[in-house]
Amino acid sequence: MKKLLPTSTAGSLPKPSWLAEPEKLWSPWKLQGEALIEAKQDALRLSLQEQQHAGIDIVSDGEQTRQHFVTTFIEHLEGVDFAKRETVRIRQRYDASVPTVVGAVSRPKPVFVDDARFLRQQTGQPIKWALPGPMTMIDTLFDNHYKSREKLAWEFAKILNQEARELEAAGVDIIQFDEPAFNVFFDEVNDWGVATLEKAIEGLKCETAVHICYGYGIQANTDWKKTLGSEWRQYEQAFPKLQQSGIDIVSLECHNARVPMDLIELIRGKKVMVGAIDVASNAIETPEEVASTLRKALQFVDADKLYPSTNCGMAPLARQVARGKLHALSAGAEIIRQELAHP
Ligand SMILES: [Zn+2]
Repeated sequence: MKKLLPTSTAGSLPKPSWLAEPEKLWSPWKLQGEALIEAKQDALRLSLQEQQHAGIDIVSDGEQTRQHFVTTFIEHLEGVDFAKRETVRIRQRYDASVPTVVGAVSRPKPVFVDDARFLRQQTGQPIKWALPGPMTMIDTLFDNHYKSREKLAWEFAKILNQEARELEAAGVDIIQFDEPAFNVFFDEVNDWGVATLEKAIEGLKCETAVHICYGYGIQANTDWKKTLGSEWRQYEQAFPKLQQSGIDIVSLECHNARVPMDLIELIRGKKVMVGAIDVASNAIETPEEVASTLRKALQFVDADKLYPSTNCGMAPLARQVARGKLHALSAGAEIIRQELAHP
């Protein structure tokens, strides 16, 4: 029988201090050349082992080989000039100096496929691989070529589809697209955001997921959350279209979030990765706290479609905090499995 409530993380995990400066986003690498390649693989192995020791069921690379979940993918594309930078406002929240789209974008060679193959060699467990979504990619760039967010998103969707097909062939079981931008640009989500995402998953036979969250636990996001009021209803905007889409799994932020749990009803039929770990706090959840969030979610999602997860990536956290949270996630899921087995 297939295990109920398979656990996973939303994405990144902390990097060891010998690879990159810890507890920091866009942290520069400490090594270069061949030494860096080897160090990234070593870190991937460690990250995998920590997930396995914590009892995580669907494992990932912990994003050990990338500096940032969006930027690193874009760095491998043609048509984007990283030396030519402009300051733009990211997801209407904070200013960042970003690269410029200067010509037609293309993917001259695979970006993460070798890394995924390496992860596949290390484990027989189901593996999940994260890619940025088209809308989140365009929001992290200054476009001086297409001059249309929609046009650029369609181009990225084609490129993501090429990468996704090769990740599938490398043995990835679940390909996840990170679309925090879906929580911000509601008209675009419905006009073309979900459509470009469907382009990115075209022809795939493996499972597909979209991760939509309120971001890493960084100050700009914490400040933004304070402006959102007592109920966060952002998911209400994208869910009806996603329910109609070909995406198999929707990954959400739930724990310590003011998201009304009943919004999950809007994606009835989809598998739901329920964020039961707060990535914006160093406090390690108790298994009972995790179980409590999962219990609430079970009112709106069938048990065989509930996938306990984290709210977002944990790259900015201290390693021992992230480790504690992984263990809490497993233990909390086990409490609910026992309850379901002995009602
Ligand atoms: Zn996230």
